[in-house]
Amino acid sequence: MALLDKFASTAAIRDQLGADGQDPTDVVIDQIISPTEGLVGGRHTILAGTNNYLGLTFDPACVEAGKKAIEEQGTGTTGSRMANGSFATHTALERDLANFFQLPYGMVFSTGYAANLGTLTALVKTGDTVLLDSHCHASLYDGCQMSGANLFRFRHNDIKSLEKRLQLLGDKTENCLLITEGMYSVLGDTAPLAKIVELKNRYGALLLVDEAHSLGVYGECGRGVAEAEGVLGEVDFVVGTFSKSLGAMGGFCVSPHPELELIRYVSRPFIFTASSSPSIIASTHEALRQLRARPELRETLWRNANHLYEGLKALGLHLGPQVSPVVAVRLGTKEEALSCWNRLLEAGVYTNLMIPPASPGGFSYLRCSVSAAHTPEQLERIISAFADLKTQLL
Ligand code: PMP
Repeated sequence: MALLDKFASTAAIRDQLGADGQDPTDVVIDQIISPTEGLVGGRHTILAGTNNYLGLTFDPACVEAGKKAIEEQGTGTTGSRMANGSFATHTALERDLANFFQLPYGMVFSTGYAANLGTLTALVKTGDTVLLDSHCHASLYDGCQMSGANLFRFRHNDIKSLEKRLQLLGDKTENCLLITEGMYSVLGDTAPLAKIVELKNRYGALLLVDEAHSLGVYGECGRGVAEAEGVLGEVDFVVGTFSKSLGAMGGFCVSPHPELELIRYVSRPFIFTASSSPSIIASTHEALRQLRARPELRETLWRNANHLYEGLKALGLHLGPQVSPVVAVRLGTKEEALSCWNRLLEAGVYTNLMIPPASPGGFSYLRCSVSAAHTPEQLERIISAFADLKTQLL
């Protein structure tokens, strides 16, 4: 049974995670009450780390669209789009997403993870080079690894480090893809995209931006950080997910390049998996309509983000560098972080525990994400739960 021996170390890790009470990777929400509240271990708990930025998971129009799609189109597609056909609703969502970004081409994947794997494995190959921000999400990293391209990381949001990497490539920059996120998922800071676009133009590279956390959050129309920085038209590939602001599941890529249409033919994570179920596509499409029609959701989100950030800052906690709907509190050791995370849960506040190696810089964080659906009272309860732990947190 030598093959199974490796799980001994995994079991040891799992035991450590559960040493202080609840194992943070094994939380069960017995009942979801609203986008911001659930029952955990019999306790009413504020959900403070959902990525449900616009709070649309219970939006009546999105719920109705999902129900109607199940009734009219069934519960699932039962196959891949390449082999079993697309439903008209898949292609309609692709058209509308591209239209939303004011770009000609759009493609929908079954998850955000698959969107990154599927786009990157098709786009870069052995002999090509990828320059990836060191804080980029695992799905971007995994896509690059799977592609066989040469992969170099540059220091997070550091233009000089990126330019140094580009200079080292000499005349190979035309075969180079730069990858960043819009808003970064752990610290909530944003990429300096205008400067990155300037570099990619100067060196003749291409740029892919993952706006998973910035869709519906940044930009005048909610298109993300590239829109906010005025450079959306110069990004070569925008990828993102339906699992955050759009409150469902799935991923997308939009692009000004007609080659995106050819990615369908060579992208294994697109070809060899079932397409999203009709209810997911329908609720996502409705959420996109809501995102476009209700800018007030974004305003509420930002009011709430300011509320939580300023409240936690006033406690003297170490926060990320800028006000953002992602508010991460930096802590010392993994053990301290685990203990604080458990005490918050016992106080009825469910945050995300981020510990190395999954967190940047070797630090541990208690990560909160704010929703437009949080009430001011809920935000005050989150702040006061942190305040009760202040001596442990500092
Ligand atoms: N990109 C980023 C930046 C992410 O944070 C995530 C998920 N947290 C993904 C992609 C993957 O998206 P999904 O969970 O919808 O598959």
